[in-house]
Amino acid sequence: MNQIKFLDVGWTYTTLAAKMDAAAKRVLESGWYVLGAEVKAFEEEFAHYTGAKYCIGTGNGLDALELTLRAAGVGVGDDVLVPSNTFIATWLAVTRTGANIIPVEPIEATYNMDPENLEQALTPNTKAIIPVHLYGQPADMDPIMAFAEEHSLFVVTDAAQAHGSFYKGRMSGTLGHAAAFSFYPGKNLGAFGDGGAITTTDATIAKKISSIGNYGSSEKYVHESLGFNSRLDEIQAAFLRVKLDVLDDWNWRRRNIADIYLQGLKDTPLILPVVAEWAQPVWHLFVVRCEGREGLISHLRENGIHTGIHYPTPPHKQGAYKHMAHLSLPISEAIHREVVSLPIGPHMTAEQAERVVNSINEFYH
Ligand SMILES: *Cc1c(COP(=O)(O)O)cnc(C)c1O
Repeated sequence: MNQIKFLDVGWTYTTLAAKMDAAAKRVLESGWYVLGAEVKAFEEEFAHYTGAKYCIGTGNGLDALELTLRAAGVGVGDDVLVPSNTFIATWLAVTRTGANIIPVEPIEATYNMDPENLEQALTPNTKAIIPVHLYGQPADMDPIMAFAEEHSLFVVTDAAQAHGSFYKGRMSGTLGHAAAFSFYPGKNLGAFGDGGAITTTDATIAKKISSIGNYGSSEKYVHESLGFNSRLDEIQAAFLRVKLDVLDDWNWRRRNIADIYLQGLKDTPLILPVVAEWAQPVWHLFVVRCEGREGLISHLRENGIHTGIHYPTPPHKQGAYKHMAHLSLPISEAIHREVVSLPIGPHMTAEQAERVVNSINEFYH
């Protein structure tokens, strides 16, 4: 039986091999490997794609978040409002600045930060908010931005799963004061190694971010702040330029698979993803919920269908955050117990998606 893979980054190379080989050769032969023409061109192309004014490449998505928070002046003694349910990197970025995390529970239907919970989470030391566009669907940004404005908070969106998604006709990357992206290979826009970027329309923030990520320097051997080294490699930028050209097309392939799932699974007991009427998600993940997920997962595995769990443990129950383990975050805890991610991606065909649908319907009959 042929396997339906959850993720197939090898497929992305095979599909684009001639262009990827040419991109690699161009960089290798150029004799210039860090902060050169490819990074500059990719930054311009990605800024243009999102509609943001500036784009700054970084070493990865976690650094993109940390750099942005630092550039916004977030540090020791500050509080940052962060979703209680997210990949742990969102939390780690805050912790690495020295600031404290205030977890905010999500809207259960969309898994995204609930703007109604912000007021109650606010502290006198709150300096920033990080809405995550989880699984590829933008968070409800208008009320979040209104709240931020009212309380003078900085908003960096975690768009690591949301390249190309729209909120009320505006693309992720332009929805907060800055947006952090990851180009980890499995992301919708993925490199062949680590990579990340920040988009923003704020010239001051953009300048600070470039400086902090380059040893705190905007002029060679002049160091105005305690920076670190987090830059996008030339070779990854060259690969990403090829991938950016197919991003919309590949996001549409994901939408087709999602449509087949939404249609084909509606008579099962599974809780299906809910798309807000103003959102155009990019389906980084297709996440369903059910009680006792182990049975479903092993049934699918026996039928050659690979699944994932995003994520099995909420950040406050991880060893890394054991000082927060006593917090009661019931929505997040229930979500983490019940979610299952079905395979989705540009590597999948409609027939494979139908096979997943049939296998799940068979499980429930
Ligand atoms: C992948 C991811 C990150 C971190 O990106 P890296 O490039 O792996 O450091 C941050 N937040 C979310 C929501 C992610 O999915």
